[in-house]
Amino acid sequence: MENYENLVKQQRAFFRTGKTKDIKFRVDSLNTLQNAINKHEKELLAALRTDLNKSEAEGYSTEIKIVLEEIKFSLENLDAWMKPKEVDTPTFITGASSVIYPEPYGVALVIAPWNYPFQLAIAPLIGAMVAGNCAVLKPSEFTPTTSKVLAKLVKENFPENYIAVVEGEVETSTALLKEKFDYIFFTGSTPVGKVVMEAAAKHLTPVTLELGGKSPCIVHSDAELKSAAKRIARGKFLNAGQTCVAPDYILVQRQVKDQFLSELKDAIHVLYGEDISQNPDFPRIVNEKQFNRLTSFLNDGTLYLGSKTESSRLFIEPTILDQITWADPVMRDEIFGPILPVIVYDELPEIIEEITKRPKPLALYIFSESTEVQDQILGSVSFGGGCINETLAHLTSPFLPFGGVGESGMGSYHGQGSFDTFSHRKSILKRKAE
Ligand code: NAD
Repeated sequence: MENYENLVKQQRAFFRTGKTKDIKFRVDSLNTLQNAINKHEKELLAALRTDLNKSEAEGYSTEIKIVLEEIKFSLENLDAWMKPKEVDTPTFITGASSVIYPEPYGVALVIAPWNYPFQLAIAPLIGAMVAGNCAVLKPSEFTPTTSKVLAKLVKENFPENYIAVVEGEVETSTALLKEKFDYIFFTGSTPVGKVVMEAAAKHLTPVTLELGGKSPCIVHSDAELKSAAKRIARGKFLNAGQTCVAPDYILVQRQVKDQFLSELKDAIHVLYGEDISQNPDFPRIVNEKQFNRLTSFLNDGTLYLGSKTESSRLFIEPTILDQITWADPVMRDEIFGPILPVIVYDELPEIIEEITKRPKPLALYIFSESTEVQDQILGSVSFGGGCINETLAHLTSPFLPFGGVGESGMGSYHGQGSFDTFSHRKSILKRKAE
């Protein structure tokens, strides 16, 4: 039976020395992490190729560069974020001033998924470090090669009583969750998010839950269709659709459907070639269970493009399913693969009603040149975050806190959002003696 009581105890003892609160310690640690990532770059890219067949270019931009940018941004801003903030004091409290002190929670637990196995483990870890916490990191068991490199990289550079990687399956997560942490940051599916929150409740540990869901992508008749098709193809089929904020399904206004689908087909071919099964760089599905779940959707609606599969190498071609209805199996849960269902609509209120009947999405994308259309959707649908006339990009900005709402999660991170997430705000009122 796995037991992590001792590990947490050691981290708590180290936290109590106060070392992690020192700005120099945090800066040095971030620099160490940055150097370690650069040093292990080749090994990491090879691991991502093994685990998910990510190309070097895709692996570098979506897993390595993004965390290096996060470190750089944190190093530039840490000093300002850490400073106590003076705020106003109401006039009925005379002779007083008020200050908010950000302080680290203590020992944080980070649980990561498999789809961006490096980025989604390291980015929250950076937040924990920037805010001055110790951390235990549990990467996914479904991308074991990357998890191994990650564990090695951390072990080589940080003492275990500051940062530890614990590899393992569900049992490992369960054993870790028995311990009392001061903060839990979980990225993964909505059902497991509920398990994590229940475990956290036993210790009253605060949580951030970065979950998933079905993210709609709306293509209105006044959209620039060629540009929309290009950006949707890129966002949907990156990592073979295994992206939490990938457009899950398309809602397209009836009068432009044919033209949009034709543009989308062209865009997919420009990105991946005419015969995608011959493209050595198209990512694979993570495992057989996911492959079988995904291929079961291929008979929904009518096939517009794709549907080639090869089980021996877990390959599924980018596939567009036309004439889908809200009742089709592919519309039940998050797809998380290279299958794109298309539903047509006549007027916006129809789709606004359908989306708002369902769990709040993690992301939503609007393709329209009209600010009225954009505002109508933004004003009536609740979702984590998203883009207008683009896909995925909101996730890459350190100025936009990233996270879900409702069943797609709670809390957010990236940039100052990460520092704030892993910090408690201690409010102090200082008053002069009478
Ligand atoms: P998952 O929920 O199955 O697993 C995530 C982590 O939780 C893994 O480390 C796993 O070992 C652990 N885990 C699994 N079952 C557990 C249990 N019963 N108790 C405790 N821990 C458990 O998710 P996944 O399949 O790795 O990732 C895919 C999901 O993650 C999708 O739903 C996707 O949308 C979501 N996701 C969200 C974001 C985001 O930023 N919001 C990012 C990536 C993925």
